[in-house]
Amino acid sequence: MDIIRLLPDSVANQIAAGEVIQRPASCLKELVENSLDAGADRVQVIVRDAGRTLLQVIDNGSGMSTTDARLAFERHATSKIREAKDLYSLRTMGFRGEALASICAVAQVEMQTRRAEDETGTLLEIHGSDVIRQEVCSCPVGTNIKVSNLFFNVPVRRKFLKTDQTELRNLLNEFYRIVLVYPKVAFTFVHNDEILLEMPAQSEKQRIESIFGNPSRNSYTAGLVEIRTETELVNIHGLVVKPESVTRKAEQYFFVNGRYMRHPYFLKAVQTAYAGMLSNDYQPSFFIYFDIDPESIDVNIHPTKTEIKFADEQTIFQILMASVREALGKFTLAPQIDFDTRGSIDIPMPSEHETSMPQVTVDPNYNPFHSRNTYSPSQPAPRQWESLYTGLKPETNVIYPNATEINLQIEESFSVWQYADRYILTATEGGLLLINQHRAHVVILFREWMEQMSETQGAMQQLLFPEVVELQPDEMLLMAQILPDLKTIGFDLEQLSPNGYSILSVPARLTDQSPQPILQHILSQVRERNASTQAEWREQIALSLAESAAIPYGRSLSPEEMKDLVSRLLHLPTYLRTPDGKTVLTRLSDDEINQRF
Ligand code: ADP
Ligand code: MG
Repeated sequence: MDIIRLLPDSVANQIAAGEVIQRPASCLKELVENSLDAGADRVQVIVRDAGRTLLQVIDNGSGMSTTDARLAFERHATSKIREAKDLYSLRTMGFRGEALASICAVAQVEMQTRRAEDETGTLLEIHGSDVIRQEVCSCPVGTNIKVSNLFFNVPVRRKFLKTDQTELRNLLNEFYRIVLVYPKVAFTFVHNDEILLEMPAQSEKQRIESIFGNPSRNSYTAGLVEIRTETELVNIHGLVVKPESVTRKAEQYFFVNGRYMRHPYFLKAVQTAYAGMLSNDYQPSFFIYFDIDPESIDVNIHPTKTEIKFADEQTIFQILMASVREALGKFTLAPQIDFDTRGSIDIPMPSEHETSMPQVTVDPNYNPFHSRNTYSPSQPAPRQWESLYTGLKPETNVIYPNATEINLQIEESFSVWQYADRYILTATEGGLLLINQHRAHVVILFREWMEQMSETQGAMQQLLFPEVVELQPDEMLLMAQILPDLKTIGFDLEQLSPNGYSILSVPARLTDQSPQPILQHILSQVRERNASTQAEWREQIALSLAESAAIPYGRSLSPEEMKDLVSRLLHLPTYLRTPDGKTVLTRLSDDEINQRF
């Protein structure tokens, strides 16, 4: 008996949908890409309940004839390629003709569409691949497609959706990846009747500002510098963050021929260009656009995958790195500290046997100068130079045994001077070190508070007379979120009223300061920096506390205090910048000093 049967289309489509449409964000991506492929210059996205209930995309693109509207929902129905060789000269986002077939298999879809040359449009309603309704309708030129109740017939998938907050973030991230390459198209994004983004046709730079800027803060793009390189192989342009404007949250975007891509190997090229300019735990933000002959990349990969294979990745790695370096070189005023850049740079090789993409594991601590021993062998290894401070403050050695960020050499009995009640000066091997006293202390205290939050309950000091802190409604919400973390460092708060807390205890180390301004500062930092995860608000808490307690400018310090500060600082794993990216120390090399005479 023969047992093989062809699956009915509706079943095949549902299976395909499992791959193409994994969540609301992938559905949105397909719909918006279709609008762009149809030449729209205005696209509206309307979402309800993070896409669970409704995902609607309205465009003013070409629209479809009645026949095409019906065909569009068939599997492998596409207007974008005709034969295999077309794949290599793709200028559209879509080409597989599976998206609409997949979407209508797992949702309730209603579409209205009209071409400019037609008097009337077509209305189609499809539920789980079944055409429920097809009518003539009157509608504007373009396409308006509503996808309701995604996965209504696949309960398992529906169950796997994350919280609305997470799904909405996924939607927005997917949306950014598209709108960043189509600045000339106007977009709006509405969620539960609230306009989250409204962007006119604009320049690339303005588009970045529209998305990541915050009108109440300094311009986001002012912290970026342009890169531009044109070679026979590839043209690269875009914006990368200035080292002094680096923030905690890195936005990292590569695009190739108008598509977003992930590329761990090229990411490493960018990181390498920043080597020595960022503290180890910081990542650079960048928006980099590659233009390359479509024949030299392979996009015929899975639609939900964002990796793209290039023909000549090592050369592009070098071009990219040089281009970012050049841009940074132009704009970095701060002298580079102690990196010998004369040696050649290791370019990691993609492995030979790769089929799809180079597998490069990204080590965020990667520093090409450390792996090549460009220091003279006579210099003590980082571990040894701890001993330079024995007797000074031995307990700090225990916490951070590996101080390797830069190899600053300081004489065993080092001298310190204070300048302008603001900077600490000390000699290092081959140069003079200038350290900002306040920022140095911020870095040290920040680490201490971070450790406290991740480890134990901090010592508390009960207040004899509980104080009250009054808050605005949104601050009350924030406070409720961060309360458990405040508790671990020693704040005990009790909600007193709908708009206030009473402060019962404070961290023992803060008893000489008034707690309300500190709490207010913490809240405003958490809010301003948009800290939305526990890790992020912990950092803001630690940073606020460190800033409030750090040695201020204008205080004169004794040599002992300064030595203590310097040795604690240099024993931290990272100390070049404060957590919010400000320069902590700088070095004047002997050469630089001598040149002045
Ligand atoms: P693909 O985009 O890979 O071709 P889709 O399933 O996404 O496959 O779409 C099928 C076809 O439907 C497209 O090739 C296009 O001709 C048509 N189509 C889809 N969306 C739109 C739209 N918004 N405007 C005009 N035509 C569209
Ligand atoms: Mg498509």
